[in-house]
Amino acid sequence: MKTKQKKIKVGLVQIGDKFGDQYYLPYSIGVLQAYAQKNLKNPEDYEFLIPVYKRIFVKEAANYLSDADVVFFSSYVWNFQINLKIAKWLKEKDNECMIIFGGPQVPESRSGMKTFLNKYPFIDIGSYGEGEMPFLLILENIKKRSWENIPSIGFMKGKDFIYNKISERIKNLDEVPSPYLEGIFDSLIKANLDEGWSALLETNRGCPYSCSYCFWGTKTKNRINQYTLTRVFKEIDWFSKHKIQFVFCCDANFGILKRDIDIAKKVAENKKQYRYPEAFSVQNTKNSTEKIFTLQKILNDNKLQKGVNLALQSLNADTLKSINRSNISPETYKKLQHMFNQHKIATFSDMIIGLPNESFSTFADGVFSVIESGQHNRIQFINLVLLENTQMNEPTYQKKYGLHTVDSKIIPHHTSLNSKSVIHEIQKLVIATDKMPKNDWIKTRIFCWIVSLIYFNKLLQIPIMLINRMNSINFRELIEIFMQESKKHKVMSEILSFFNQKAKEIQKGGSEHVASQEWLNIWWPADEYIFIKLCYEDLLDKFYNEAKSIMCDFLPDKLLDETVRFNQGLLKLPFIKNDLDISLKYNIFEIYQGVLNGMDTKLKKGVFHYTIDRTSTKWTSWEEWFKEVVWYGTKKGAYLYSCYPLNNNKRQKRCDEEFHYASFQ
Ligand code: SF4
Repeated sequence: MKTKQKKIKVGLVQIGDKFGDQYYLPYSIGVLQAYAQKNLKNPEDYEFLIPVYKRIFVKEAANYLSDADVVFFSSYVWNFQINLKIAKWLKEKDNECMIIFGGPQVPESRSGMKTFLNKYPFIDIGSYGEGEMPFLLILENIKKRSWENIPSIGFMKGKDFIYNKISERIKNLDEVPSPYLEGIFDSLIKANLDEGWSALLETNRGCPYSCSYCFWGTKTKNRINQYTLTRVFKEIDWFSKHKIQFVFCCDANFGILKRDIDIAKKVAENKKQYRYPEAFSVQNTKNSTEKIFTLQKILNDNKLQKGVNLALQSLNADTLKSINRSNISPETYKKLQHMFNQHKIATFSDMIIGLPNESFSTFADGVFSVIESGQHNRIQFINLVLLENTQMNEPTYQKKYGLHTVDSKIIPHHTSLNSKSVIHEIQKLVIATDKMPKNDWIKTRIFCWIVSLIYFNKLLQIPIMLINRMNSINFRELIEIFMQESKKHKVMSEILSFFNQKAKEIQKGGSEHVASQEWLNIWWPADEYIFIKLCYEDLLDKFYNEAKSIMCDFLPDKLLDETVRFNQGLLKLPFIKNDLDISLKYNIFEIYQGVLNGMDTKLKKGVFHYTIDRTSTKWTSWEEWFKEVVWYGTKKGAYLYSCYPLNNNKRQKRCDEEFHYASFQ
């Protein structure tokens, strides 16, 4: 023990990534500090260092923490590797410094903890479950170094492995003080005046569902414990007062409690009164149509949320059973989708590739069904990752469903190309299952990129909708024909082989996205990368000609030609100086609008004049367009211009909402 120090110095590490120009205030470690400061017998004996909250050089972090007597690391999959490096460095420099790891990345099982401590001998204590009590008791006992009576921890005592029972979760959450209201982050903010901050709002803990891929899905976490509304409201006031732009509500199921509507209203009122928070993002509960809609309408009307995620993950009954997920019901989904579409509230949906019992066929049918239910903005296709402390991470589960994994670097899309000094975080990615062998996983991955490229990035959404509407062929068959027929065409076959190559790379542990130094120096999702390539390298005309020959069996020539021409004209591009007047011989636009609004409009011949508004918003450089259209527009698939009917060849007044006929924003 260091005798020269009067106070016990406590190092805190919760490293997060930068989102936009902001970091999250390190909430988890802040809660622990607030709890300890309230409950320590002699809090004046301790000095809490300002937390390490962002990725810095390992050496820099270790030097900063080198005076600490004990360092606590909050670990999740996105910061575990850098935490390990800092911890190892600290231990090598000073064997007396106690290293404690907690958070979802620390195994909760006895065997998992034993392996963990053997693998990382520089970690003195692993803490599992809720961290408040172990954090407090470790600090109380730091001088004696006696851990036997501290619940929820594992450690080595000489050669013996000690695994203490996990404590019950805290039922009365108001025993846990708010780090915001207790001023825990004041010194952090003061020391980093140039930094922008986002914040997490926790109004309850726990989730009644048991999805096997999710940390919250274990039985011990299924009771929902709540903070009082008074405290939640005070925290929202704190966000407003501190000009926090973005607040993420980390509740597993926002909307599950009736009072969540009051919370949404409070955030909206604060935004009106104080301007902050500007944005409030939540994870919706399931199967509660009215409540979700009411909540999201409040958030949308007050411009607090950009898009609503109606997460599905899979639509296959066998898959949902094997992952213990009681999904949002298809009826609820369809009803919600329809309500949101009618109120012009943008939604997007998540689907996971590689879940147990999901084949290429069931997955593709699921995608078709989601689109049929009214999702025309975006399906986010996510590769399945196995997380620590989930049912899916157990070897018996993986064996049962034949899950094959590869270790790959975590590189979120649209992040900067890494510099050499950055430590890479690692994820366990599923690349094949019994029902989706390796080749089928590749086929599924390519299917998803093609769907994203031609449907959700809007390159061919209008002809595909029309073909589907006219019942010539269904959506899934059409995409499969695209995948097949593309091999015969130059541009399309290059796209196909690019996707094929990328999928194979991922299976070998390569990055999930595509690096481009030239295009903003960031990692692009593969479909967006190809979308940019087609536009930037002037390949659109060739692409559309090839697409027409692939689709020529499904629509009469003139109708197909007109539909493709119309779709191409609507595509947002940089350097455009004029609006585009367009005359059609079919009511294609009305049909398209009908599908978007859940109506069945019949095809008819006539003369239809439109103006495509290509000048209200313009992009005068590729960089501007990459960022504002391709990147920022991705969730809503906002890649098409607005279009107005032209009566008597007279342009309708653009700002008149009544005539703002179609906004694809
Ligand atoms: S995925 Fe959502 S609903 Fe399922 S266990 Fe996790 S938090 Fe609960």
